[in-house]
Amino acid sequence: MHPRILRYALFVLCVTPFAADAQPSPALAPDVRQFVSVDAPVVVLTHARVIDGTGAPARAEQTIVIERGVIRASGAAGDVAIPPGARVLDLSGRSVLPGLVMVHEHMFYPSGAGSVYNEQAFSFPRLYLAGGVTTARTAGNMAGYADLELKRAIDAGRAVGPALDVTAPYLNGPGLPIYQVHALTGPDDAREMVAHWADRGATSLKAYMQITRAQLEAVIAEAHRRQLKVTGHLCSVTFREAAALGIDNLEHGLVVASDFVSDKRPDECPAGGVTASIAALDVAGEPVQSLIRELVARRVAVTSTLTVFETFTPGRPSAPQGALDAMLPEARDQYLRRRVQIATQSNSPWTALFAKEMRFERDFFRAGGVLLAGTDPTGYGGVVAGYANHRALELLVEAGLTPLEAIRVATLNGAQYLGRADSVGTIAVGKRADLMIVRGDPSARIADIANVETVFKGGVGFDSARLFASVRGRVGLH
Ligand SMILES: [Zn+2]
Repeated sequence: MHPRILRYALFVLCVTPFAADAQPSPALAPDVRQFVSVDAPVVVLTHARVIDGTGAPARAEQTIVIERGVIRASGAAGDVAIPPGARVLDLSGRSVLPGLVMVHEHMFYPSGAGSVYNEQAFSFPRLYLAGGVTTARTAGNMAGYADLELKRAIDAGRAVGPALDVTAPYLNGPGLPIYQVHALTGPDDAREMVAHWADRGATSLKAYMQITRAQLEAVIAEAHRRQLKVTGHLCSVTFREAAALGIDNLEHGLVVASDFVSDKRPDECPAGGVTASIAALDVAGEPVQSLIRELVARRVAVTSTLTVFETFTPGRPSAPQGALDAMLPEARDQYLRRRVQIATQSNSPWTALFAKEMRFERDFFRAGGVLLAGTDPTGYGGVVAGYANHRALELLVEAGLTPLEAIRVATLNGAQYLGRADSVGTIAVGKRADLMIVRGDPSARIADIANVETVFKGGVGFDSARLFASVRGRVGLH
């Protein structure tokens, strides 16, 4: 049989029984539908450059068939039949990638007055989706039930946004000057808090800077009993201690590790911080390389959040114009004022720290470590959902990954970590049609990742520009 006919036959065979029980996507509320640019039972993408998320080289002149939200066929033009009646999009000059799966996202943004974070349940879900993020873990939650209710609204088609893996409110002991975070009283309290939020739908847990080993151990035990994973932005517990306790993921990487503070006391975040100890480190030296080997051996994932560290580092580019325009004027002023202060610091430790963090992440990745990507929209601002997700990929490439490796980190790796790789994370037949379409070729020029035109979520295409435009002046407000 001619290969084209054979493939069509297989295509028909695969499609027919499956289509019968395919679930219709939920009816979209008008507030969601206003951003939809492509919605048809069968959508075909033609003349596309496909970057499939596995790290494989880009393939030109590809055809992808999407039926009822699922990728039904994908291959070279001429090998994939175009079903009659399909909505056909000519993607000449464009690349198709899996929707991004990013794991250090938040629905909050710094408000400036002290350490207070405002929930951004209006602007951030739109911005994430506009930027091509179709799955996001909210790595820490300052608003109790809000992220869970937002997730339910998104899943039901009542709100725009990525599929969310919701992290419970932070697990932390006393000492953090953020009133939104409960101070754990002990291991029993920690276990109860995990159970409480897991029972209500949280699917990830995050330990924070002032947790004790005993509390963290209780968190991990309760989470793992429920097949849930635990990450941490740690300080009181070292990376090695947390790895030995069975933590699944460490946020931020080397620059927050307290392992190298010489007089560190157990269960305490050093009063002087960890910066001086990291600034004195040689990343190529045995202490760091041995930590990398330990994390790789124990399969502890590390989340890159170079985007937020870049804002602390003098001489680095500003948030892009789109992100500045997205900010509430007061939030923009606050960001730009602080940026000027940082630019005039003569001996900021961050110049060295930022370079060391990049080197650490590259070495960890090259050693076989599970590197994940996130943006962490905290600090003093300037890390804006959607825009920052693109920057995260650019910074991974600056750190030494190839564009294809960086894309894999931000797609397949995230999906595998979240246990969702059988439905998302790569472009493959049978997976959900969560895709981003960009002008240009990010496999050759990673900055092209920012040229997003359309974002498919479950086969429904959303207009990126319309989503971005809908939140101008809102970031920092809501
Ligand atoms: Zn964070």
